[in-house]
Amino acid sequence: MLIKLSGGRIYDPANGVSGERRDIYIENGRIVPTPPPDARVQEVYDLNGRIVMAGAIDPHTHIGGGKVTIARMLLPEDHIKDPVARTELTRAGTGHAVPSTMITGYRYAEMGYTACFEPAMLPANARQAHMEMGDTPMVDKGAFAMLGSDDFFLRQLAAKQDFQRIKDYVAWTMHAAQAIAVKVVNPGGISAFKFNQRKLDLDEEHTYYRVTPRQIILTLARALQELGVPHPLHIHGCNLGVPGNMETTLATIRAAEGLPIHLTHIQFHSYGTEGDWKFSSGAAPIAELLNKSPNISIDVGQVLFGQTCTASGDSMRQYAIARSAHPKKPVVMDIECDAGCGVVPMRYRDKSFVNALQWVIGLETFLLFEDPWRIFLTTDHPNGAPFYTYPHLIRLLMDKGFRDEMCARIHPEAAALSLLKSLSREYTLDEIAIMTRAGPARSLGLKDRGHLGAGACADITVYRDDKDRQAMFATPELVFKNGEVIVRNGKVVKVVQGATHVVRPDYDRSIETPLKDYFDRYHTVAMENFRLSDEEIVKGDRGAIMVHPTGARIS
Ligand SMILES: [Zn+2]
Ligand SMILES: [Zn+2]
Repeated sequence: MLIKLSGGRIYDPANGVSGERRDIYIENGRIVPTPPPDARVQEVYDLNGRIVMAGAIDPHTHIGGGKVTIARMLLPEDHIKDPVARTELTRAGTGHAVPSTMITGYRYAEMGYTACFEPAMLPANARQAHMEMGDTPMVDKGAFAMLGSDDFFLRQLAAKQDFQRIKDYVAWTMHAAQAIAVKVVNPGGISAFKFNQRKLDLDEEHTYYRVTPRQIILTLARALQELGVPHPLHIHGCNLGVPGNMETTLATIRAAEGLPIHLTHIQFHSYGTEGDWKFSSGAAPIAELLNKSPNISIDVGQVLFGQTCTASGDSMRQYAIARSAHPKKPVVMDIECDAGCGVVPMRYRDKSFVNALQWVIGLETFLLFEDPWRIFLTTDHPNGAPFYTYPHLIRLLMDKGFRDEMCARIHPEAAALSLLKSLSREYTLDEIAIMTRAGPARSLGLKDRGHLGAGACADITVYRDDKDRQAMFATPELVFKNGEVIVRNGKVVKVVQGATHVVRPDYDRSIETPLKDYFDRYHTVAMENFRLSDEEIVKGDRGAIMVHPTGARIS
């Protein structure tokens, strides 16, 4: 069936189209070239005056895995439908900071998102993470395998095993856990926490393995580059949330030595120690160095005010902030030989100096970082704020007047210290389209997503052109998934299942000999059971697996 989207204003930065009126044709779920004039069009959507973009892609959102389940169990109050009236306890279709899987899929689709990536899947927990994502309707998904604090890797590194063997292990893990990329969280620090270390800086040694975060980062980043995994090493750096951590972040940027890396939720890593509160913004010097570092991409992890719940593999840092939990019920745990996790409920307040400055630092980062292709819009859901606050965040970036109004409400000392008043930049629709579609697709190696050229998957979002950008981005008029209308006027009208995206680099299977021995000695599951089969992911009506090629970094 041939479908025509007629006369919309197209924002498709990957193909150099900026607000021009064009028709888009869809056939069999894909965008196709303009057909000959006599072709029979079966369905026409009149998009006159509408703004058309590819479906949005969230490259960092915690939607699957043990920590999300713990957060849901920990906060039954989060699942009361109307938290103010405290009425109607309906667990399945509810949730604010950590919504149920169904609501997660629905709300993303209702905001025009068609793909979401879970950035912190423990390989030991991959089965549960994929089951949870499989239960999340509407959107495509994928997950990043967490490595760098797992004993097998640290042993290899400490024993100075040859690099080829480590590379094979990284590739093996991506296959076993069905991952699209690799994330490192507090490199080595989650393991060091188990050995009673309470901090681990870039060049500090793990007391047992005698390796440093710098070595871990460089080894994994190089392994991924040589394996040809499109998305570079996704780094949640050392010292998250620690005042003064901007120095560690600057050192990490320099440590990459030109290797491609991605620094995630950089807001939480951009803190100085100046002023009366010994807490200040490091956004400016970090943005200045990043602007000169084309090998590095970032996402922000913007803090927005209100109740949320932080959930992270960084057990060391979650333990440190556990006393600020609100409500007071944190969970911190070690997991297998792989990792750990911490779930700490959090309420960010605009009248708190620290929270207000976190809000400022995120916005300064957005406004000072120049290349929209290397920065992605995230709140690190649910850590900085729940994902459905994105339309509000987009308005803050696109509307200087609104930003100044919001800035007038925060803690006055944080406002006085911020650069925001002097930053007149307003993001354009092109830049928003890059940051929320084209950029993440390019970074993850999704060649047929994030753009509207012929051959692309017909995931398309249509907005009314509303001066109030928050209203505009909150309620798209139409959302297409694989060429079908799934959302009308901001409400789901058809439930679909998205695909699971993976990358499968080649490796030498002889790595399974030492691995099997290791599993038999130390793990609670056998190596054969650790590995996820395709059938487990696609069983029932859970959507297909899409394998993306290696060696395909798109630039
Ligand atoms: Zn993280
Ligand atoms: Zn995160």
